[in-house]
Amino acid sequence: MNIIKIHPAIDNGIAKSDENFTGGTLQCLCDSDKVEVRVNAQTLHNHACGCSKCWKPEGATFAVIAVVSRDQVSVISHAEKLQVIDENATIQRHACKECGAHMYGRIENTEHAFYGLDFVHTELSPQTGWSAPGFAAFVSSIIESGAPVSQMDAVRARLGEVGLPAYDCLSPVLMDVLAAHSAKQKGTFKA
Ligand SMILES: [Zn+2]
Ligand SMILES: [Zn+2]
Repeated sequence: MNIIKIHPAIDNGIAKSDENFTGGTLQCLCDSDKVEVRVNAQTLHNHACGCSKCWKPEGATFAVIAVVSRDQVSVISHAEKLQVIDENATIQRHACKECGAHMYGRIENTEHAFYGLDFVHTELSPQTGWSAPGFAAFVSSIIESGAPVSQMDAVRARLGEVGLPAYDCLSPVLMDVLAAHSAKQKGTFKA
C-alpha cells in the first residue's frame, strides 16, 4: 500500500495521450454557470509541479500543468467569473472567483522565454487524449506547502514508480530553453 498521494490524474493511473488529439474545453468546478475555456490544440510539456503557486485539487501534493500556444486559448463562457490571482506574478493565473480553479495562466512579459505560452490544467477537461504528464518539476518545493521533509524519499520513489523523472527545477529541456533565452539576450547564444 502506498500512502503517498501525488495527484489524482497520476495516482489513479496516467491517461495516455492521443496523437490525433486536437484540443477541447476546460471547465471550472462550479456546479452551474461554469467558466469554460476552449483550447484549440494538443498541450505540450505536461508535468506534475510541486511549486506553491500552481492550482491543485483538494488533497493533491502536486499540480498537473501543461502549456499551449496562447493564441489557441479563449474563454467561451462566464469570463466575468475570472480574476487574476496575483497581478505581479510572472504567470497571470486566471482563476474562477467562486470555485478557485485556475483556468489558464498567461505570461504578459514579452521578454520572458515562455512568452506566447499559456499554462493549463487539462484535468479540468471532459475530453480525453490530452498530453500525458512526463516529468515532475519543483519537487523539493512541496516542502514549502507543508509536505514533511521525512517523506521526500518516498515521494521521489513514488514518482519514479509511475515513470515521472523528478527534478527540483524544470526538466532539462525546459531549463535549456530558459538558458538559451538568456544567452540570446547576452549575445552568447550558439545553436
Ligand atoms: Zn468556478
Ligand atoms: Zn507550479
